Amino acid sequence: MKSAIDIANDVRTGATTAVAEAERSLAAIRSRNEELNVFVHVDDEGALETAQRVDAQIARGEDPGALAGVPLALKDNLCHVGKLTTAGSRILEGWRSPYSATVVNLVLKAGAVPMGKTNMDEFAMGSSTETSYYGPTRNPLDPARVPGGSSGGSAAAVAADMTPIALGSDTGGSIRQPAALCGLVGVKPTYGLVSRFGLIAFASSLDQIGPFAKNVTDAALLLEVIAGHDPRDSTSLPEGAPSLVAGVDAGVAGKRIGLVRELLEGADDDVVAAVGRAREVLTEAGATVVDLSIPECRLGLSAYYLIAPAEASSNLARFDGVRYGLRVDADDVAAMNEATRTLGFGAEVKRRIMLGTYALSAGYYDAYYGQALKVRTQMINAFHRAYDQVDLLLGATAPSVAFKFGEKTSNPLAMYLSDVFTIPTNLAGDAAISVPFGRGEGDLPIGVQLLGPGRSEAQLFAAARVLEVEQTS
Ligand code: GLN
Repeated sequence: MKSAIDIANDVRTGATTAVAEAERSLAAIRSRNEELNVFVHVDDEGALETAQRVDAQIARGEDPGALAGVPLALKDNLCHVGKLTTAGSRILEGWRSPYSATVVNLVLKAGAVPMGKTNMDEFAMGSSTETSYYGPTRNPLDPARVPGGSSGGSAAAVAADMTPIALGSDTGGSIRQPAALCGLVGVKPTYGLVSRFGLIAFASSLDQIGPFAKNVTDAALLLEVIAGHDPRDSTSLPEGAPSLVAGVDAGVAGKRIGLVRELLEGADDDVVAAVGRAREVLTEAGATVVDLSIPECRLGLSAYYLIAPAEASSNLARFDGVRYGLRVDADDVAAMNEATRTLGFGAEVKRRIMLGTYALSAGYYDAYYGQALKVRTQMINAFHRAYDQVDLLLGATAPSVAFKFGEKTSNPLAMYLSDVFTIPTNLAGDAAISVPFGRGEGDLPIGVQLLGPGRSEAQLFAAARVLEVEQTS
């Protein structure tokens, strides 16, 4: 499949049209969506209309932008005005966004063509896309296995060549982990780099929107388009969008990289071996890779499963049967709220709401939520100390290659462990990228994770590109 950059160039030069690219994407979606359950809403009409507008711009001699005519998939927690937006939940079945997320406006402004909404774990809670009300998504590389989650549909869309790029959201690993399991590049940007306006909130202090792509340069291009200050997100960083594509080939010569022991602990042998090989490749490219220990990483999962559910229990209070989506009528308002939420939310979402409400309740707040915030501060400090010594960090993205359906659904803790290597970055508010590197069990792809301090995305892309070049050479 052609890269996003090549499609945009070809659309701009007239070698292809946006409509032809949208039709190709729709045909690819049609051929495998029933089998894989990637898109929950395919927006045929909207996509062709947008593509026609792009082609009309070209005909008028205007430049549609860096993503001219590039088909794009949107995770179903991103608002797009007038379009179905369900966050994988029954409670939002049939709900249409009254406005667009800032990222959606930005990709449209850059000439991209949104093809529809992709499946996801309900309210982004999960690591396999199995908690979606709309059924699980299958991994295009092996349909007996999960694509990862929660942005499993966006990852599968790119892996199945339905679209060259996609947007997801990452609260604890939901871009990087599915990217690893589907053989893609996935980025969790620095907290505040990308506006969260119009993203259905899960845990607001951790959520970030980011790109999926088949290669590093396409991911850099998409992040360049969506990054930048937005007055409609109060946590948006004040600086403008960084330049990312221009520096992807900057290499790692002279860089110091720390291989974090804790970001390999418990990983399968094939994953550990891939990270070891990545270390060699980065060293051959001129980086100095040193062994590092960040013991605080071991506390990440525990802190996350207090902080994220606490924020979720508050964020999800708005789904009350009055303002959005589903309503189950009952005798009075309280009974209606209860009946609506009982039917509308799935088991994992209910578990998180209960965990969060408990952690925030009087008498337990200090012992649970308050403690978790202290651990988070320790984590932030630990990463600061690490970045005093090295430029970037290296570890695994996920403990294993893509796992089989049902393997972890009966044990929530086993599922939560899928994100043990990705969660620390969200707690620290830093940036990280997963890049495909090597293959493991069943010839399935392995993701290697590179982590960096806030606004280190350009360096992360350059390091990831070194690994990518080694893969393709
Ligand atoms: N799998 C983690 C969770 O279930 C992270 C999800 C995410 O990043 N949205 O919370």
